[in-house]
Amino acid sequence: MTQNLKYTFGPVPSRRLGYSLGVDIIPMKTCNLNCVYCELGRSTDETMTLKEYISADAIVEEVQQVIASTSRIDYITFSGSGEPTLNTAMGEMIHRIKAMTDIPVAVLTNGTLLYLPEVREMLYAADLVIPSLDAVSKQVFKKVDRPHGHLDIDRIVEGIITFSKEYSGPIWLEILFVKGINDTPEEVQLLIEAAKKIDADLIQLNTIVRPPAENNVQPLSEAELNAIQKLFGDRAEVVANFKASKSQAKEESHGDRIYDLIMRRPVTKNELSATLNLTPELVEEHVSKMLAAGKIAASDYTGELFYTSPRLKNRPVIT
Ligand code: SF4
Repeated sequence: MTQNLKYTFGPVPSRRLGYSLGVDIIPMKTCNLNCVYCELGRSTDETMTLKEYISADAIVEEVQQVIASTSRIDYITFSGSGEPTLNTAMGEMIHRIKAMTDIPVAVLTNGTLLYLPEVREMLYAADLVIPSLDAVSKQVFKKVDRPHGHLDIDRIVEGIITFSKEYSGPIWLEILFVKGINDTPEEVQLLIEAAKKIDADLIQLNTIVRPPAENNVQPLSEAELNAIQKLFGDRAEVVANFKASKSQAKEESHGDRIYDLIMRRPVTKNELSATLNLTPELVEEHVSKMLAAGKIAASDYTGELFYTSPRLKNRPVIT
């Protein structure tokens, strides 16, 4: 059977979700925020437009194909290249996926649209919702998340609180700290108060562990994040993978970024170059080394060369 994988990646092992099949229901970097720490780079299309960016049919069909050919998936996770709740077909996608499998569905969202009843309603059928909240004060919200002009942080916090009262499943609140921006004692206190009102089952504390959109932003150290965790109390845990980021996120090599993208989905050299904003020569240099070392595989499909995980090389068709 032909597999044309455009919207899914993985399953990738994840500490939080086991083997998680990522589902991208939004075009690359379509978001209503432009977070300074975003590992996808700057938002090219900062938008508040809610529409069916990718159809429910396309997503459900691909998820069905992947489930049929994959032995272990612990979660089907809506996440990836932008803000998934901008896609108005997400509710239908969740319902249809749940009708065809028992695998739980998780949604990672920036939480900014939960003030809208129709967005909250789309998420009711999910088994787990992980909203983010990086700031409570207007100034810090603007600095860390650089929101679309129509977003208001008071309304966003109220939206998350309302959702947590209505939703029957577990909520894990994720807070990502950026040194010198949202880690001040005042902002931490505001976040603690907001987290109490949201009453999340878990509070996951994170920091920058991958190359951020802006070069001049810094992660917290492990000790700093642990100190903040103590202030949040028992429901909070540090999820930042400090082992992976020992050399600091911004020092992560171009090679690592290229490798990560190839592991997510088959890509061409041009796509690598455009997505990661790297010169074709640099991409060529790294890809050649990885091919020689057997870390990645290359496969021809309809006359175009795709780079992929060696594990996927023997699938009938990859794109
Ligand atoms: S919400 Fe997510 S996708 Fe959007 S800019 Fe922030 S980190 Fe990037």
